Amino acid sequence: MMGRDELGHRSETVRRANLSAIVRELHGSGPSSRSDLVTHTGLTRSAIRALIGELVAGGLVTEERAELDGTPGRPSPLVRPNPHGAVVLALEIRVDSLSAATVGLGGEVFDTARMDVPRGRSSVDDIATGLAELAATLRDRLPAQDVLIGVGVAVVGVVRRSDGLVFMAPNLGWRDEPLGKRLALAMRTTIPIALANESDLAVIAEYRRGAARGVQNVVLLWGSVGVGGGVIIDGAPLTGISGYGGEIGHMPVNPDGLPCRCGSIGCWESEVGGAALLRRAGYSPEGGSEAMDAVMRDAQAGSSVALAALAETGRWLGIGIAGLINILNPELILLGGQLAPFYPFVRPTLEAELDRRALRASRQVARVTPARLGMDAPLLGAAELAFEPLLADPAAWLGTRPSTNALVSA
Ligand SMILES: [Zn+2]
Repeated sequence: MMGRDELGHRSETVRRANLSAIVRELHGSGPSSRSDLVTHTGLTRSAIRALIGELVAGGLVTEERAELDGTPGRPSPLVRPNPHGAVVLALEIRVDSLSAATVGLGGEVFDTARMDVPRGRSSVDDIATGLAELAATLRDRLPAQDVLIGVGVAVVGVVRRSDGLVFMAPNLGWRDEPLGKRLALAMRTTIPIALANESDLAVIAEYRRGAARGVQNVVLLWGSVGVGGGVIIDGAPLTGISGYGGEIGHMPVNPDGLPCRCGSIGCWESEVGGAALLRRAGYSPEGGSEAMDAVMRDAQAGSSVALAALAETGRWLGIGIAGLINILNPELILLGGQLAPFYPFVRPTLEAELDRRALRASRQVARVTPARLGMDAPLLGAAELAFEPLLADPAAWLGTRPSTNALVSA
């Protein structure tokens, strides 16, 4: 027989898991009636009523009486996530700019700020100071009753999740830089700061709010200055033991390829990245986004050089994606960031390589499409990263809830 303590412990574990299921559902899908929550979480009506009561008392959700709509029976009250009850600060480091946003529970973006930085010439301390300034600006504009619960940071580099050490950010010229520690010092805050790679976060944003909603197995290729990747398998991000996993841009594909900034040669990035496209289209590989826009304009105008360059990029995309399809059996492969506008031009050669190389059974279920959230996906994903501890265990957070955002001291 179970003792009373053990029973109590089990019911507490169940309560916490149920609170998490409800907050996750509301955060991801928006307002729901109590009866929809019963359907989506599998909990009983009375359990939902009690748990919603706790969440309302804790300020995480609000509940409003539903309008009488003429159907028989009592109307089911509408439950909404309270965007002001839990707010996160999302930060993003790009090669030439820093971005910040405040985002409320449920995904509402309240405010944004941006700062240019010299391209690839910033020290870790410069970046940490810049991010802290943006954070302070947004915090000052946040109403006093809004509760700031966490900070998420998207980094254009390979990041160790446990402490925010940037192992490698070739486009910033960084190696083994303790960004997490420097940022905590610069922000002088006690609220948790979580850091991750930009493409790992972009795929989470597309999964929760973009082109991959409802898709449990998805690969995102993220084109910025380099090419990154984010992978979700069975609904869970693939991070590897240290958080370095999913660097599919550095998958070796060409034994005779070009040297890569990571130190290897013939990486996939060297064939499908922006620099390769510029080189093939007759522009300087260092041309950046302006040259890239020019290539896309040339292609739209029917330039045979630009179209051939994109077709070759499509061929290399197909070669790598065929391998990913065979290994991971995903339902969806998204072209994100700078790769998204390539899609209509690269599609024929890309699909032809998939037909030649991917296993037929896996090929049949795999779709390749452009991502939907544009260049903001990593920033939105950084917000999701910062929400994760609350979503995983709202009960723990309700127990220690502060009353204002005063936790962040200037
Ligand atoms: Zn590489």
